[in-house]
Amino acid sequence: MKTIGLLGGMSWESSALYYRILNEEVKNRLGGLHSARCMMLSVDFAEIERLQTAGAWERAGALLAEEARRIEAAGAQMMLLCTNTMHKVAPQIEAAISIPFLHIADAAGAAIRRTGLRSVGLLGTRFTMEEEFYADRLRKRWDLEVLIPDPADRRIVHRIIYEELVQGIVREESRREYLRIIDDLRRRGAEGIIEGCTEIGMLVGPEHTDVPLFDTTRIHALAAVDAALSGKSV
Ligand code: GLU
Repeated sequence: MKTIGLLGGMSWESSALYYRILNEEVKNRLGGLHSARCMMLSVDFAEIERLQTAGAWERAGALLAEEARRIEAAGAQMMLLCTNTMHKVAPQIEAAISIPFLHIADAAGAAIRRTGLRSVGLLGTRFTMEEEFYADRLRKRWDLEVLIPDPADRRIVHRIIYEELVQGIVREESRREYLRIIDDLRRRGAEGIIEGCTEIGMLVGPEHTDVPLFDTTRIHALAAVDAALSGKSV
């Protein structure tokens, strides 16, 4: 089994989910007392959020690249960046390490294509929904049609992530808002919804809607288990 490196803390609420899913999945597949070989370096999210708000992406990328180097030096054999948003600086991180980097949008794109769906709605931070690093990758590499909420609803989705979900707050009224926005995307043609922020699964799960949901936290962690157990280089 290969050692999975996790660059986490963005937020720790979802990093805790990654740790749980990795271990549960390795136990499911190998049985007995098996658990995931992994290591996590968890950053202070307040520092990252300040850099996001300031638009200091170059600085944020340099900081995360440095942390990724530490994870590689400690012996990890593959890298997961445990946030969708910070994949905006994935090229800086990938350039800093020599172990494989499992891009979260590629894990999501592959999972969606396996279901045969072609048109999906994307929920995430405003950076993830509005900038090209994420949706464009899904369109170009995975040939998907990607719909995003209208501007007012994008503000709601973004606000709930930062004011509630990354702080571990799950509110029924916020769930109702998300479900309304998901229904709207469905009416516009989305056949499924990408939960493109690693905390959204805490708010909306398959028990709340019959629209197929693609929870990027779970998809990303399962892709890492596949790679860790495959025996192949990823
Ligand atoms: N975890 C979130 C994501 O997947 C948002 C936190 C962040 O800005 O990194 O995008």
